[in-house]
This record gives sequence, C-alpha cells and structure tokens, in this order.
Amino acid sequence: MKSPNERERFPRTAEAFSSLTEGAAMFERLTAMEASFADLRARPRVVHSRRTLGRGSDFDVVLAGGGLSLLHAVALAKGGLRVAVVDRARIGVGHRGWNASRAELSALEGLFSRDEVEALVLARYERGVCFWHGGGSYPVRGVLDCSVDAASLLRALRARCEALGVQLFEERTVESLELAKDGVVVTARSARGEHEEIRARLLLDALGVASPFAEHDLFCPTVGGAIEGLERGEARDQWQPHVGEILATTEGVEEGRQHVWEGFPEGGERDALTVYLFHYAERNELDDAPLRGLFERFFRTRPRYKRGVGTLLRPTFGIIPGHSRLRTTHVSPHDRVLLVGDAAARHSPLTFCGFGSMLRSFGPIAEKVSLALAHDRLDRAALEATTVEPKMLRLLGALALMLTARGARAVDGRVCLLLDDAFAALAASGEARFAAFLRDEAAPIDVVRLLGRISLRRPAVYREVVRALGPRELSRWGLNLASSW
Ligand SMILES: Cc1cc2nc3c(=O)[nH]c(=O)nc-3n(C[C@H](O)[C@H](O)[C@H](O)COP(=O)(O)OP(=O)(O)OC[C@H]3O[C@@H](n4cnc5c(N)ncnc54)[C@H](O)[C@@H]3O)c2cc1C
Repeated sequence: MKSPNERERFPRTAEAFSSLTEGAAMFERLTAMEASFADLRARPRVVHSRRTLGRGSDFDVVLAGGGLSLLHAVALAKGGLRVAVVDRARIGVGHRGWNASRAELSALEGLFSRDEVEALVLARYERGVCFWHGGGSYPVRGVLDCSVDAASLLRALRARCEALGVQLFEERTVESLELAKDGVVVTARSARGEHEEIRARLLLDALGVASPFAEHDLFCPTVGGAIEGLERGEARDQWQPHVGEILATTEGVEEGRQHVWEGFPEGGERDALTVYLFHYAERNELDDAPLRGLFERFFRTRPRYKRGVGTLLRPTFGIIPGHSRLRTTHVSPHDRVLLVGDAAARHSPLTFCGFGSMLRSFGPIAEKVSLALAHDRLDRAALEATTVEPKMLRLLGALALMLTARGARAVDGRVCLLLDDAFAALAASGEARFAAFLRDEAAPIDVVRLLGRISLRRPAVYREVVRALGPRELSRWGLNLASSW
C-alpha cells in the first residue's frame, strides 16, 4: 500500500488487498482508476485537422480501447475488414465476473461454436430475485440467469482477433485522436515513451468511461469480487447456488446514498459468490476516492448482506458510465467516429448491464458499419443509424435519477420504499412483463402503465418525481416519451 495515510483512510481495503497475491498492484490500479476518472485532462486529446490521409489509412477501423469491445473487432474482421485495436493494458486479459441473460449469450454463436459458448458459462440460475429492505422479495426467471467466465471469453476473443489478422497495439496509451478530412489518426505511447501513429478510415471509441467524446451524466461506482466462505441457506442473508440476486438492499439511505447489492454464485470449482456493492450517482456527487470509499463500506457492511467470515479471492471494481437520456447524446459525435460499449452507454441506467447490451448490439453494429465502409458513408448521420437502442431506455433515466442522492432527498430518504412500490407494481404486471423490463425489452407503453400502477400504490410519486427533476428535466422526459411512442 502506498502510504500510512492511505492505510489510515482506507484500513479495511488496505488490509484485504495486502493479503492477496498482486494486492499491491491491484490497489495501485484502483487509485489510478480514480485519479484518471477525476482528471478529465487525462483523457485522450481530440484534434481537428484539415489534413488529408489519401491512401495512407493502414486500417479500415481502429478501436481505441480493447476491453470487452474486442467483440466488435472480431465481428468486423470476420467480415474481411482491416482492424486494429489499441489499449493501454494487456489485451484479452480480465477477471471480472459477468452475468447475462441466456438469450443474450446466443449472440456469441456468431463468433464461436455452440459448444465453445456453452463452455464459457460457469453457472446457470433457476431464477433471479430482487429484494428491498423493509419490503418484499420479487422473483423473476430468464433475467441475468448465466454467469460467464470473463477471463476465458476475453482470451478467446483475443485468439480470434489474432487468427483473423487484427493488429493488437497493447500496453500503449492513446494520447490523441486526430480527426482528419478522410480518416482518423490515433497517436499512442508505449511504456518506453515511444510514439506511434495508427491511421484508419473509421474510429470506434471503446474507451469506456475514459472516452473524450462521451456525454455520460450518470455513474455507477461498483466494487466487490468473488468471496468464499459465506453461509448457504434460504434466509435473505444466506445464498443459494441456483439463485442470482439481481438487485438487493439491506438498509435505507446512509451517507446520503442508497447502496445496492448484487450477488451471483460463481459456479465452477469454487464455492464462491460474486458480490458487488454499488450506488447510482451524478458526477458532482463523487469525491476523490469513489471506489476506495465504497470498498471500505463493502468490507464493513457485507455481513449485513451475506453471513459468514468471507474471504475475498479476487477484487473487481470500476465506474460504469451511463446516460439519463435527459440530455442530448450522440453515438457519432463527429464524422468517422462511432462510440461503442460503455462509451456509448446504450445499456439500461437501472441495471447498468453493459455486457448484455454489448452482446445484443455488436452483431447488428458490425453489419451496418461494414455497409457504411463499403459505401464510404462515414458521416455522422450514417453512423448514428448503425446503433438502435431499446426505446424504453429513453424513459428509464429519470427513474434512475430517483436513486441518486438528489432522488433520495426528494423522497426524504425512503428510496427502498419507492423501489419496493415499483417492483411490487412490476411483479403484479406478470412475470413476462417483469422479465422484459429487466432485459430492456419493455415497450414505452409498459413503462407508462407501470408508472400508473406505482401511483396507485404510492400517490405521492408524481410530486416526488417533480421535486427531484424540476421543470426542465420533466419536459425533456415528456419529449422523450413523445418521441419513443
Ligand atoms: C465490477 C463490475 C462488474 C460488472 N458486472 C457486470 C455484469 O455482471 N453484467 C453486465 O452486463 N455488465 C457488468 N459490468 C459492466 C461491464 O463490465 C461493462 O459494461 C463492459 O465491460 C464495458 O466494456 P467496454 O469495452 O465498453 O469498456 P471497458 O471495459 O471500460 O474498456 C475500456 C478500455 O479502454 C482502455 N483505455 C482507457 N483509456 C485508455 C487510453 N487512454 N489509452 C488506451 N486504452 C485506454 C482500458 O484499458 C479498457 O481496456 C460490470 C462492470 C464492473 C465495473
């Protein structure tokens, strides 16, 4: 750990990390992630230039960022395109635990055989459940019911990239993105300080929360990891191997925030549960240590969520960005630039399931991008048309804002009760509609009906929403409703 000061400020986190192999390096990564999130200048510089590359493009597509967005690289290279990927870290390495809905995983069958996809699934759950402090439990089937071996998936994607001739520029930090007249130049720096220029006809910005183009306005700091030694059983504070807990709370608002747990059994050889703690936030609510602070709370309050001593085997953490859709956002902010993955944040601002959203979207995007390249239609309008997002997401952002600190103030801290009313209304609408809602598949009319049902249980809800959002955001929400009809 870096300094005694940090050990004093984050004692539980410091202790838990110090007992892990590579714990010191992981703690460094945690602080570096927070620092680069806070410092907007640490993002790559965008340079607008008038130069013409002519025939000087080495690639059709360059992906800045090579995390899960490797899915895009493989799909595009499979179509015969010349693809490059640049990432500051090793490419195809990771040990995050991801869950996804079974139906979403079938998209991988376009890249791997069915048996290979099956082998990536570590555990399948009979059902999922959401439960709220002081409220009920709401079971649901067919939602986030598979846990996926992220390390194997990323390794397999890297191997596919290599087999398809994708050029990997790893351990290179993207410093600038030059938007030339007929292409894009990515300038990357190696650890030894050497600079390299990568020229392509199209840039896919897959930099996640570090994207210099993205207009994220909601954030979900998430910490946790795989934990061994927790008690099994049927009580809320125990876990069952065939149940995935999608959203759960163990207390009301504390420290001005409504914290939410997620827990899903890892499957495989270990008797471990992947446990995450997160909260919804706007940027101005996050201090200089949004992840270390949350880890302190994680270690302190985890026994409220699941009983048992619990040993952290592998920490995972990150700040997942999102959009409320109450401000205008673009997936193509400039000609020849398309945002994908977390940078585009086309996932639900309620569940923040970027993996599922990426599984749903990489195939259709690759098809449309290939066509756009074939016809040399790389202007903003053509690129905007490559991405279609579920219409219901335009309406969900305002609801997600009700879970941030300002929402908590509007409901006088009773966020759990609001959640309980909302989920009771959802469950009453029938399991199919409940599941469709959590998989981002509900129609806008269903969201409106849901609001009607919530107001029957909780007449104050309209006043609370008006108090949280104010007239400008409310009218924006009204416009979203009209445009999604
Ligand atoms: C703890 C945690 C648990 C999660 N669990 C789930 C889950 O269970 N289910 C689910 O659906 N989703 C989950 N998510 C969300 C999911 O992980 C993300 O949506 C997904 O990984 C986004 O992938 P991405 O490639 O778009 O972005 P990222 O994974 O953020 O990748 C961005 C890449 O850009 C690189 N980069 C950044 N800046 C630079 C630079 N200047 N130069 C070069 N490279 C750079 C980074 O190294 C990184 O590899 C979870 C997220 C977290 C943090």
